[in-house]
Amino acid sequence: MIRKCNEHGYFRGHECPECESNGRYVLDDEREERLGRFISGSLRHFPDDVGLKMDQHGWVDLNLLCNIMESRYRWTTGELLLALIESDIKIRYEVKGSYIRARYGHSVNIDMDYPENELAYLYYGVSLEEVDMLLENGITSLRQRYVHLSTSYGKANEAASIHTDNPVVIEIDAEDAQQDGLLFMTVNNDIVLTDEVPPEYLSIVETQE
Ligand SMILES: [Zn+2]
Repeated sequence: MIRKCNEHGYFRGHECPECESNGRYVLDDEREERLGRFISGSLRHFPDDVGLKMDQHGWVDLNLLCNIMESRYRWTTGELLLALIESDIKIRYEVKGSYIRARYGHSVNIDMDYPENELAYLYYGVSLEEVDMLLENGITSLRQRYVHLSTSYGKANEAASIHTDNPVVIEIDAEDAQQDGLLFMTVNNDIVLTDEVPPEYLSIVETQE
């Protein structure tokens, strides 16, 4: 559910994370999910299919997206789109002027233009079954435009746990890789994008008990 605190803006759940007030009701769970799926699909996977024109960095016209959304789902408004984006704890989207884009998760072929960051170590969670293959061949992504790496062991473990019961976390020596010319782009506190990571920068993190 999305609600709005007068002081701190839109939030998910029943209590504002800043002041614990209940705020006012904005959107229920089911509609939040439907709208979320539509926005994610439009900005990451099939902009053409819904009638959006995406530039090479992933931006689309915000008003046009709003119009398309409102014609598909009569109950939506521009406010709901804003509510969805601003309350998103995963920080999936960004708005600049009259344009909007997804920060990560693309399957469409775009080139993100985030500045390069200097990083020491990054992490990638996989299943026990996959780990040997990755250590041998490196990390690539078939379905997504970029490989998505995590900024911490915990986040990588969490991401892998969604898909597997026995996650293993691979550590990437990002400093070494960057010295050799690999590009890493930080899109939010948790996620870093890169094209691919060759095997020489990878090692397994021993379980942290
Ligand atoms: Zn508040």
